[in-house]
Amino acid sequence: MLRRTKIVATLGPATDDPKMIDKIIEAGVDVVRLNFSHGTAAEHQERAERVRNRARAHGRQVGVLADLQGPKIRIERFRDGKIFLNEGDTFILDGALGSDDGDQERVGIAYKDLVNDVKRGDTLLLDDGRLVFWVDEVKGGAVKCQVKMGGYLSDRKGINLQGGGLSASALTEKDMEDIKTAALIKADYLAVSFPRCAEDMINARKLFTEAGGHGALVAKIERAEAILPGVIEGIIEASDVIMVARGDLGVEIGDAALPPVQKALIKKSRAMNKVVITATQMMESMIENHIPTRAEVFDVANAVFDGTDAVMLSAETAAGKFPHLAIAAMDRICREAEKQTSVKESDHRINTKFERIDEAIALSTMYAANHLGVKAIAALTESGSTPLWMSRISSGIPIYAMTSKVETRRKVTLYRGVYPVSFETEKRDHAAVNLDAVEELRRRGAVRNGDLVILTKGDMMGVLGGTNAMKIVKVGEMVDPE
Ligand code: PGA
Ligand code: MN
Repeated sequence: MLRRTKIVATLGPATDDPKMIDKIIEAGVDVVRLNFSHGTAAEHQERAERVRNRARAHGRQVGVLADLQGPKIRIERFRDGKIFLNEGDTFILDGALGSDDGDQERVGIAYKDLVNDVKRGDTLLLDDGRLVFWVDEVKGGAVKCQVKMGGYLSDRKGINLQGGGLSASALTEKDMEDIKTAALIKADYLAVSFPRCAEDMINARKLFTEAGGHGALVAKIERAEAILPGVIEGIIEASDVIMVARGDLGVEIGDAALPPVQKALIKKSRAMNKVVITATQMMESMIENHIPTRAEVFDVANAVFDGTDAVMLSAETAAGKFPHLAIAAMDRICREAEKQTSVKESDHRINTKFERIDEAIALSTMYAANHLGVKAIAALTESGSTPLWMSRISSGIPIYAMTSKVETRRKVTLYRGVYPVSFETEKRDHAAVNLDAVEELRRRGAVRNGDLVILTKGDMMGVLGGTNAMKIVKVGEMVDPE
């Protein structure tokens, strides 16, 4: 059985060995993430090329996701390395201090608006919540804090405000440069960090398109403001993919609030015909260990039960000891979870009207497939929209996105239950194309004589948004047009 849930793995120093690239491809990675918070443009370009070359050698398609750093608010650097803060210490975040002049009493902060965003009584969380500061006084350009939870503090650690509300705009100058790099690399996905509202996504899409980018836009949901009713719907609408970015989001809304939010975001995204990635700390202990904890096994399986399209690895693959084993663990957990009948049933859009012919075909196909006992779906597609709609319906039946467009084949690497197939449709009659499509699936071992296959396509093959036909055929009993 093919795995339906897709695996995203972050590249980093731990995957730079060419042998490791082969290993992660063999282990089943579907999409690689380039994290623009670290590394140079040249490094990202090199990594993307290496993965694509090796994927080609393996006869596989691997998508590339470029993840912008975004306006993560960070402290500056310490003069003599990391410091240790004890509970009860006073510590100052000082906008006037030089960027390398931090010491035991204070540290610089490049984000000058911090003083406008916080007030006495607020709680600041540093280094993903490892240190907790209580804001005592805001004066001039400095924020005086009392340490509530101490620990080591080192250069460039992040700052979050509990409850959210740090108001830096979503695209920094670095992000705008990185968008150009992402376009140059031909990233299949561009992830925007910390969007506050739909406009942030619309702006990013505009810049990406202007830079010549063609990929889909991912909104990382990692601010408390982003999940407010009315706001989240706008962000989802303006994006192609939603990432449940549990790391920063958990710091802002509290870890206990994450599970229901994850479920709600997955449900909402799917209902709005969007794709969703569940991210961060899924296999955290595998940074050091070759097996996951039981809790991590459950976390991955539960994301599959929640209906996620993809599960993501961060430091586990970028900086961990066993990147390929983390992917292999996710692979086996997803496959097993997908055997549950509950993940194959759907009530997606059961009570709504369809607005488009191609969407009606996509959903009718899934209804027929789930009820008839079909072996495979062959969606002849240009843009990938038809397989996207199909995959919003929970099902155990593989959906083959058959297209001559390499961009589309790479894009569908993220869609649950959708598999890219290189297929030429142009300048041939329908009967010949039908036969060839089914033959291609038979050649791949996806179907055998006697199996039922549903084919979807448009009258005008090779045209965007033109799908208007579904055909149910029995393998081996098709009429040869010759
Ligand atoms: P990051 O985003 O890994 O870029 O921080 C994901 C998250 O915050 O969960
Ligand atoms: Mn984040």
